[in-house]
Amino acid sequence: MIKKWEMQIEVHQNLQTLSSTWQHLWQKATQSCENAYAPYSNFWVGVAILLENNEIIEGVNQENAAYPSGLCAERVALFRAGIQFPHQKIKMMAIAARKADNPQMLPVTPCGACRQVMIEFENKQKTPIQVLFQGAESEYYIVDTTAHLLPLQFNASSLGLQTV
Ligand SMILES: [Zn+2]
Repeated sequence: MIKKWEMQIEVHQNLQTLSSTWQHLWQKATQSCENAYAPYSNFWVGVAILLENNEIIEGVNQENAAYPSGLCAERVALFRAGIQFPHQKIKMMAIAARKADNPQMLPVTPCGACRQVMIEFENKQKTPIQVLFQGAESEYYIVDTTAHLLPLQFNASSLGLQTV
């Protein structure tokens, strides 16, 4: 027997076909790249999160000379949202990246650890989080739920718990 999982990605070839909300959030994510602290990789990642109260929370990658001590932009933004607005649901999240010496945006997808944290937030708030990032050919990808980014997720039920 073979089991298959499906994931669904909405693909846009350019920014103009995205909703104005997505365009605004993308702009915030690209602008926030400038604030990345990435002196070792020079790879700047910027994230913008839209909450249900319309606040936008930004995050950037935070590197460290002791490499594992740093943190990805996605988790910086999510944890920041969690502490600033603990009762607001996250609606949308845009992830942008570029090199420090080149304004051209680069494809980037959230790492596995960040996908795990995104899933945790989604399960906690019990509503899906939409995510926007660029694909390999700089097209724009939108997923309607972080669950599509992490099949066979580890969650509360993995610990034998009903819910968080
Ligand atoms: Zn990450």
